[in-house]
Amino acid sequence: MADCSKIRKFSGADDYRTNFIIRSEINKFLPGGRHFIDDAEIQRIISQIDSSEVDPVRVREIIAKSESTCETLSPEEVGVLMQVKDEGLFSEMRAAALRIKKKVYDNRIVVFAPLYMSNLCVNGCKYCGFREGNSLQVRRKLTMDELNEELDVLAGRIGHKRVIAVYGEHPDTSTKYIAETIENCYSRQVPAPKSGCKVGIRRVNVNAAPLPIEDLKVLRSVGIGTFQVFQETYNRKLYESMHPKWSVKGDYDWRVTCFHRCLEAGVDDVGFGVLYGLCDWRYELLATVMHARDLERWFNIGPHTLSFPRLEPASGTDVPERSPWLIDDETFARIIVIARLAVPYTGIIVTARESAESRNRVLDYGMTQLDCSSNIAIKGYSDFAHESEQDKERQQFMLGDSRSIDEMVRYLASRGTITSFCTAGYRCGRTGGCIMDALKTGREGKFCKINAVLTFREWLDDFASEETRKIGDELIKKELAEIKEWLPKFYPAVEKQYEATSRGQRDLFF
Ligand code: SF4
Repeated sequence: MADCSKIRKFSGADDYRTNFIIRSEINKFLPGGRHFIDDAEIQRIISQIDSSEVDPVRVREIIAKSESTCETLSPEEVGVLMQVKDEGLFSEMRAAALRIKKKVYDNRIVVFAPLYMSNLCVNGCKYCGFREGNSLQVRRKLTMDELNEELDVLAGRIGHKRVIAVYGEHPDTSTKYIAETIENCYSRQVPAPKSGCKVGIRRVNVNAAPLPIEDLKVLRSVGIGTFQVFQETYNRKLYESMHPKWSVKGDYDWRVTCFHRCLEAGVDDVGFGVLYGLCDWRYELLATVMHARDLERWFNIGPHTLSFPRLEPASGTDVPERSPWLIDDETFARIIVIARLAVPYTGIIVTARESAESRNRVLDYGMTQLDCSSNIAIKGYSDFAHESEQDKERQQFMLGDSRSIDEMVRYLASRGTITSFCTAGYRCGRTGGCIMDALKTGREGKFCKINAVLTFREWLDDFASEETRKIGDELIKKELAEIKEWLPKFYPAVEKQYEATSRGQRDLFF
């Protein structure tokens, strides 16, 4: 049970709005008032992008640096990559992005599912259907029994092992509720439909509002995976126009220093995200790099993942339709390539907000994680007859890719990509700086292949259709042969675990 004795309590939404933010936990990370998001520098780089010609020699030097060091590029270097318009030169960037992805993550794609816990919210973000005051939304938070119903579908029928639990910001869904729901996710075990083996959720990532250090320590104690907070936009002026001053979220600096507090609290897998379409994408990507570099400076740890949500239509608002900064599929793909080169070691998440075509395309450009069989209505998995059903008044936005996990696994396998259900990382200490080093040197990519094979075997035996299982079996044979060639001495241990998994043992990992 989580020890929540140090967590502050609030009498209601007004008390929360007035007193939640701890100013000293912002200022600590902005010494001397200097800000790591340097607006003037970003504007300077953007005007240089617009006014000067690209130098192909310099572009190739930057590509080579990204590939050989796997270190985060400087904003200046990222600006040079942004100048590239020539298709030939860009295809060199794209090829390098794919090589980096292979070096760092091999041919794996990690899958997860969103799990919406609540849509209670004390904020008023102008682009969001969950904002306070939107009477079109039916408000609710999951009870523990309802959460179990959701888990029975997610873990027991679909076969997910990893969820991103999503919480609105509200005193009724505070840290205590987040901690209890995480604990509940880990404890629920159900029989798998094909094998009868006990299965459950093994990694709970969280998408929530920024928290103070003491609260983050509580989440660490219950085994949080990645803590994800989306900045939405790094452009302060635009940020302030989208997030009213009276709201907690209206405080830009509280939000942008959240990951510094995470790392201070020992929550060392942090997930960045920007809502692409609110502002000039170049501004956002340059600021993302500044943010990553500041965390690296303080803690020697950068973003575990970057997410790339695009602004989508939502209930009760026309902001998503009116924004002058909406991006097309072509630009979206370009952003993924540049991001892969800019922060080479990071995981890149592209969610089912995107269309199937758009996601299929960026698989080759550097994406490493995706969701499938997703439902983002509160209690949508257990209420709807099929997980792909949608209801605008019950969800934050509409999804574009409704493929089931079986379809997705089959599609990926047909391209030679293995779906990984591995969740070993945080359970054996491979998080934060430790995982970053392993990723940069390419060690993690190979090592994780073993865990990917073991968990893929589990999923095929527990959940797959015959058609998917057949193609999955073929892929596993190829993967095992590669592991044998790569690690001949270690291979007997891998084989032993693989056979045990095939006989029905679960959750074996290296
Ligand atoms: S984006 Fe988040 S904080 Fe803003 S209104 Fe929506 S749910 Fe609330």
